[in-house]
Amino acid sequence: SNSFSEKINMDNGNRQLHIFFLPFMAQGHMIPTIDMAKLFASKQGIKATIITTPLNAPLLAKTIQRSQNLGAEIEVVVIKFPCTEAGLPEGCESLNMAISHGLVQDFFKATAMLEPQIEQLLQEHAPDCLVADIFFPWATDAATKYGIPRLVFQGTGFFPLCALECLRLYEPYNNVSSDSEPFSIPNLPNEIKLTREQLPDYIKENVESTELAKLFKGVRESEARSYGVVVNSFYELEQDYADHYRKVMGRKAWHIGPLSVWNKDTEDKAHRGKENSLDEDGYCLKWLDSKKPHSVVYVCFGSVAAFNDSQLMQIAMGLEASGQQFIWVVKKEKSYGEEEEEEWLPEGFEKRMEGKGVIIRGWAPQVLILEHEAIGGFVTHCGWNSILEGVAAGVPMVTWPVSAEQFYNEKLVTEVLKIGISVGVRRWVFVEGDNIKRDGIVKAVSRIMVGEEAEEMRSRAKVLGELANKAVEDSGSSCLDLNAVIEDLMAIGS
Ligand code: UDP
Repeated sequence: SNSFSEKINMDNGNRQLHIFFLPFMAQGHMIPTIDMAKLFASKQGIKATIITTPLNAPLLAKTIQRSQNLGAEIEVVVIKFPCTEAGLPEGCESLNMAISHGLVQDFFKATAMLEPQIEQLLQEHAPDCLVADIFFPWATDAATKYGIPRLVFQGTGFFPLCALECLRLYEPYNNVSSDSEPFSIPNLPNEIKLTREQLPDYIKENVESTELAKLFKGVRESEARSYGVVVNSFYELEQDYADHYRKVMGRKAWHIGPLSVWNKDTEDKAHRGKENSLDEDGYCLKWLDSKKPHSVVYVCFGSVAAFNDSQLMQIAMGLEASGQQFIWVVKKEKSYGEEEEEEWLPEGFEKRMEGKGVIIRGWAPQVLILEHEAIGGFVTHCGWNSILEGVAAGVPMVTWPVSAEQFYNEKLVTEVLKIGISVGVRRWVFVEGDNIKRDGIVKAVSRIMVGEEAEEMRSRAKVLGELANKAVEDSGSSCLDLNAVIEDLMAIGS
């Protein structure tokens, strides 16, 4: 029994709230948006429709079907992705594919061209609300045209949003004499220092100078004009920043995360981001079953970062030299019949590591791994979803930011929450990342896995993990905010 859904029924009779979800076509955005759509649809009286494209649709098919079987009103509508019109090769329907073709700008161009199809759907289905990713700045006007509110889904948290806004407002990076000289971000609840080389060009450049800079300007404006913002976070994690975002920056926001934690079932967790996963994934989980608590470090850099072979080699050597047991996710598939050793691994590495370390090639069931009690630490690129998943699992982290907003996220983990150790990345480098040497890896991994400092971080992380799980329970902070946003939407529509 869900007191919340009873309340809706009392107030609104049988009125149904129909919400459209438009996720951005990249794993780090699709995964939490699907979680969110399932979450809303799990509430009585709410119907969710997820809009996606032909190549992305199979990624959600299983999990959506599961929700439907459990009685949720949820469906997927497939629209065409204008590849050729935008100058992309046919089938290039995700950010990752565009990156591998070096066509990121064209990819954003294609996503802007989705607007007419979305408008047509808004007209046909007449939903009550459009929840669209921050990367669809045109969605605010499209929703307004059909008289419904647009909610922005921010893929990231309050801390990075505040950091970004204060960087933009005060441009502190203009007051330093070199790219490596630290500056403080003004007006934030904590003193946070960064360097110019840890910022992307599209922040430092004149807003009109590049397509990306223009996109980000549009993003900010449409965020400010939208009905409000849903944030994948929980209040207890970044309270000062949640307040800052609302009170100082003046945004209307609801925190409803960690979205990953609403998935209670192993199958739901296993399906995240992958069409079919339990078959081959069973192996690494069984392997973890044979290990002692907190004795394995999990190493994964998300869905976008793509390190070169020499960096992978340093990671392999670092993991071996650290003496720690590990699961390492590498975005490379092994070609069949390939006898020779791969060039990114030291000679005989896998043989020597038998029983000690596992390499997962391709996609790992990250949440299931992180939640396993054998995991004692997480080496992460600081993507927001990964940070939240690490926090929810209560593990200390080695922070290894690569690009996007990951350098701010690192500061949250290491300096505000104090549950991580920086591996020491100096430069923002899209996709390939900066170079980190073996010894830096050994040192950081050891510091989160063994010793007094590690134990202190682990106990702080554990407390946060408990708070994360409480946030989504009945009358937890995220549960209350979810109810609040639903009530607001109900009130608009009635
Ligand atoms: N993920 C996963 N298996 C992998 C790699 C990533 O399940 O092998 C998931 C991870 O759990 C997270 C998302 O993909 O939910 C990645 O999002 P994040 O924000 O961490 O980074 P991004 O991929 O956007 O850089």
